Amino acid sequence: MSLHRRDFLKLSGAGAMAAAFGGLGFNLAPVAARAEKLAIDEARQTTTICPYCSVGCGLVVSTAKDGKQRAINIEGDPDHPINEGALCAKGASLYQLVENDKRFTKVLYRAPYSDKWEEKSWNWAIETIAKRVKDTRDATFKEKNDKGQTINRCEGLASVGSAALDNEECWVYQAFLRALGLVYIEHQARICHSSTVPALAESFGRGAMTNHYIDIKNSNCVLIMGGNSAETHPVCFKWVMKAMENGAPLIHVDPRFTRTSAKADIHAPLRSGTDIAFLGGMIKYILDNDLIFKEYVVNYTNAPLIVGKDYDFKDGLFSGYDEKSRKYDKKKWAFEMDDKGIPKRDPSLKDPRCVYQLMKKHYSRYDLKTVSSVTGTPEAKLAEVYKTYSATGKPDKSGTILYAMGWTQHTVGVQNIRTMCLIQLLLGNMGVAGGGVNALRGEGNVQGSTDQALLYHIIPGYLPTPRASVKDLAAYNAMITPVSNDPKSLNWKKNQPKYMVSLLKAMFKDADPAEAYSWMPKLDDGQDGSWLVLFDRMFHGAFKGFFAWGMNPAASGANSHKTREALTKLDWMVNVNLFDNETGSFWRGPGMDPSKIKTEVFFLPAAVSAEKEGSITNSGRWMQWRYGGPKPLGDSKPDGDMIYELAQKIRELYAKDNGAFPAPIKGLNIDDWGDGHVYDPHKAARLINGYYLKDVPGKAPDGSDVIFKAGTQVASFANLKDDGSTCSGNWIYCGSYTGPDKKDNKAAKRSQEQTEAQAKVGLFPNWSWSWPVNRRIIYNRASVNEQGVPYQPQKPVLAWEPAEKKWVIDVPDGGGAPGTIYPFIMQQHGLGALFGPGLNDGPFPEHYEPMECPITKHALSKTLNTPTALIFAGEEAKRAVCDPRYPFVCSTYRVTEHWQTGVMTRWTPWLLEAEPQMFCEMSPELAELRGIKNGEKVILDNPRGQVWAIAMVTKRFKPFTVMGNTIHQVGIPWHYGWVHPKDGGDSANLLTPSVGDPNTGIPETKAFMVNVRKA
Ligand code: SF4
Repeated sequence: MSLHRRDFLKLSGAGAMAAAFGGLGFNLAPVAARAEKLAIDEARQTTTICPYCSVGCGLVVSTAKDGKQRAINIEGDPDHPINEGALCAKGASLYQLVENDKRFTKVLYRAPYSDKWEEKSWNWAIETIAKRVKDTRDATFKEKNDKGQTINRCEGLASVGSAALDNEECWVYQAFLRALGLVYIEHQARICHSSTVPALAESFGRGAMTNHYIDIKNSNCVLIMGGNSAETHPVCFKWVMKAMENGAPLIHVDPRFTRTSAKADIHAPLRSGTDIAFLGGMIKYILDNDLIFKEYVVNYTNAPLIVGKDYDFKDGLFSGYDEKSRKYDKKKWAFEMDDKGIPKRDPSLKDPRCVYQLMKKHYSRYDLKTVSSVTGTPEAKLAEVYKTYSATGKPDKSGTILYAMGWTQHTVGVQNIRTMCLIQLLLGNMGVAGGGVNALRGEGNVQGSTDQALLYHIIPGYLPTPRASVKDLAAYNAMITPVSNDPKSLNWKKNQPKYMVSLLKAMFKDADPAEAYSWMPKLDDGQDGSWLVLFDRMFHGAFKGFFAWGMNPAASGANSHKTREALTKLDWMVNVNLFDNETGSFWRGPGMDPSKIKTEVFFLPAAVSAEKEGSITNSGRWMQWRYGGPKPLGDSKPDGDMIYELAQKIRELYAKDNGAFPAPIKGLNIDDWGDGHVYDPHKAARLINGYYLKDVPGKAPDGSDVIFKAGTQVASFANLKDDGSTCSGNWIYCGSYTGPDKKDNKAAKRSQEQTEAQAKVGLFPNWSWSWPVNRRIIYNRASVNEQGVPYQPQKPVLAWEPAEKKWVIDVPDGGGAPGTIYPFIMQQHGLGALFGPGLNDGPFPEHYEPMECPITKHALSKTLNTPTALIFAGEEAKRAVCDPRYPFVCSTYRVTEHWQTGVMTRWTPWLLEAEPQMFCEMSPELAELRGIKNGEKVILDNPRGQVWAIAMVTKRFKPFTVMGNTIHQVGIPWHYGWVHPKDGGDSANLLTPSVGDPNTGIPETKAFMVNVRKA
């Protein structure tokens, strides 16, 4: 959008600057006036959203109107309700990212066995890559698997990327890859927050952050655990501070005393990897002291449901475990049903087989003494945290949890989050203002890229990837249609066939949906395509071609030596990025001999986010539109343009020479991606929303009959059909672009208009658009009692207007009058799940030690590690379990000034100056033990690799007492890599193990063992 002069004056700091320095005797008024004139008269202003973390801060970009069209200033957007003009160090340095002479702005090519890059043209690159794709696909495409089942899968190609793409680019990229037949499709979400999705979906029905950033201010108690928001999500922390100003205590549970701890009322240290023990102790405390919000627990959760007699738990194992396959038979954990097929329940919560009683029994072992001996947290500190947080179990109080990688990146990552979900349900903290389970995602659009399904196991809108045994669309639709016989369960997922058919029509518009289903690539039953598996297959030579799109896996993935070695096994790789990086240049990295590496590398230079148009979705599910300011620098291009051009070129090749199974390529609906020449994000956004393909009779909002004409946009996913008459690229985004014009793009809305009640809780319903259906706080039907009266009358999210028979304030999560439906509408039984029988590692979270840990004996059971973890044959010797050579627990983390592998921030001078090189934080006690002084160079090593770092000896780490022994922990940031700067150090992931969570495969990069010594 363009800003008016009046708006721009509001955000120009020039006047303020002149006034501020005037007091010091300087007169900067002429400079300020010149800056103001330059910015207004000689530049145009566009708004954008920060590309770094998931807070989604707004910025204003001033672009020179001269022929060069370069950015002359970028600053915080004062109108943006989340950041209100503020930015952290990364956002504030965006100008240096855009106007950066170290950006790669030419297409580069590295020939097999070559030791140098060569400059190439775009035409050459698109033609050559298209040919490589076709040759590889034709050579490795399989229509049937060994069982004779249809799979239509390309075996020789894989892709990782990318949360750096806009939503529209993500969607067209996944359609492009799936039309080619790829199933090995992964990206950053797998290795950062993949644990979040099944944990939240199993507990509540959807896999995303439940509330939103501004809502944190409404909390009566903020718990930050598995994260360090003050440093990693600084503008989010502004809203934590607002809650504190309103009287909310802040609790920080973390191995290290960080900037978040410094602001907290309570800092409780715990050993990395023991979060379930810590939180299990809180569950016991809540249950023992009867601090639950009973009405909520009985009416809105599955606490009263009766679990079948096959469920059991003994010696650290749930019933149904098969040692040979290392898997559980989840049927053993089923609920008992009555004769109508409805789960049996005991509202008194006294039945020994009800969820409540089983949970009580399960956590009875988690007493203060045992928990303290496992976690290393002093007993008094545990009791203080438990008491403070569980005070939010009162009906009119709410507590919120903010977490990040400290919870997700574990072999028990899903269950870490699940444990907190249990606590939030017991305390009645879901659906209310200031409550929720709030996943702080790490990339600007990693929420959106997950929604658009750049992951092997889902297709857009969280539908499961088709499997070989699900032979046709009818069978698939039956599989995705859960049945509930309970009249109070809305069971919304019963509508999924409409979303699947509409998705197939969006991808392959002219095909019959049943035929389009057959074209979709299919996984074999049980096939895992997650990140670690993908790179393990690559390591063993399974792929010929590979896209590393907007990603740097040679530094970001666990066990980096293995990843880097895997890249040498490829025939060719495409790396799309802004700067040189450890992936694109792997062939000239440490220990590599280019003359022995066959892999051809195509480097494609991408435009920076501020140079292109499209939407991104922040953690709070706000879909926000960004506008293009400066033109893409040099020969760089928006990712969408590259995908569109490649898709067109590959179609041309298949039109000329059919090749393997050409139908999905020829049938791919790329007409809705651009104008035949240039990619158009608005067209793609309209396709993702969806439109009518035929004239369809329906109802207008006032209830009158209406015909929705073919070609008009669908207003809401409630209107999508399973008969092929509608298309929608992603049902959860249906409602985001509801007309033909740019003004119908709701992601671009910038009005702060809201009712008094909405303003009270900071909903901002007219600023951007939030999925689903612009609902700002999901599960909000749980914020009112069965009569529709808000539990928190001082900060209601929803209220029932009896006279008008409608809900007001937020968009209700589920329709109907009060008391007619259960509040968790995406769940089959409509209830929040304290007992979660759908996960691979157990219906209740249980503490297990990390796969690499300093102890051999479990304090709570006989099962040391999670028995179903993802592991790789032959790598056992590379794990350091209680090995005296590697005695220290190590964890990785972020600093404010860097982002991910540092692939952008290491090239940003201001940021690099602030955090120039790898360091290792350690306690004075450990330093003394190893004879290390502050500032000395040290080596960290383990069986997988070693990295050097500068010792930072600090009281921020203290030794833990674990089961009677002293355990030291160290911490290292993971932002560095050998490419740049030369004396910055290399990736922390050279040390991390390739072991993963049994539900998602997320690698355990937050708790592993190392040795530390002087260099
Ligand atoms: S990195 Fe996050 S907190 Fe910092 S400016 Fe960007 S969006 Fe805001």
